[in-house]
Amino acid sequence: MGLLGCHVSVHKGVQFAPERGYELGCEVIQIFTRNPSQWKCKPLTAENITQWNASIQTYNIHAVMTHAIYLINMASAERTIRKKSETEFLNEIDRCELLNIPFLVFHPGSYRASTEKSGIRRLVSSLQKLLLKRPDHKVQLLIENTAGGGSLLGNSFEQITDIMDKTGFPERIHACFDTSHAFAAGYDLQTPESYHEIMDQFDSTIGLEHLKGFHLNDSQAELGSHIDRHENIGDGLIGKEVFKEIVNDTRFKSHPMTLETPGGDEAFRRNLQLLYKLRTS
Ligand SMILES: [Zn+2]
Ligand SMILES: [Zn+2]
Repeated sequence: MGLLGCHVSVHKGVQFAPERGYELGCEVIQIFTRNPSQWKCKPLTAENITQWNASIQTYNIHAVMTHAIYLINMASAERTIRKKSETEFLNEIDRCELLNIPFLVFHPGSYRASTEKSGIRRLVSSLQKLLLKRPDHKVQLLIENTAGGGSLLGNSFEQITDIMDKTGFPERIHACFDTSHAFAAGYDLQTPESYHEIMDQFDSTIGLEHLKGFHLNDSQAELGSHIDRHENIGDGLIGKEVFKEIVNDTRFKSHPMTLETPGGDEAFRRNLQLLYKLRTS
């Protein structure tokens, strides 16, 4: 039985996200700790951090995932992009540490005009470098599986395992499973049986011990389409039955499972109510 929540906006400041999550019905939340479409960000103040810690307690939020900003691409062949990405990824790691956030979800990036092999090599070398710079930080980095397509990395369990193995640091690098991305990447999540088969595949490649969190999204885009288009739970091509299976899977008892469905807060509230109804204990 996973712990349920959604992506919560922080546009008034991170310290207000726990309350907002609570009002939406969240047990867990996912946030950006900063504006996701800008390279620049304001440092967190001591006051922000104190308020954040108090708020997490008050609103009984069991776990938090941070999603790294979308601009970061450590697989890029362009030196300036890669440099900026490394600086800001380190900043993300530091902000998680300050806010005592256990999980930082990130996309492995895209290799654009270069090759898959060189993209993976650059990503791995950046990750190694940054982890070495922060040997004592507790935050765990979660590679998110992607819908793939074009030069986007992360659309197969085999490739994610490859990145994890080459990076080393098995205690610090894990994975986040996004249902709609997996479906668009070609993992046939349409029945409870196929869900279990896919989890078996995950276990024999990445290993279920590395699965630390979920993004629960139905998919508007078709199986194997490589199109990233989230849909409300039950309204897409994955369907309710699979989500029922996931939220009741006893292997993922205290795992954060957050929605990134379209439609804003009202839709989050509705989707969460549906998931709680599907979660039978
Ligand atoms: Zn993501
Ligand atoms: Zn997506």
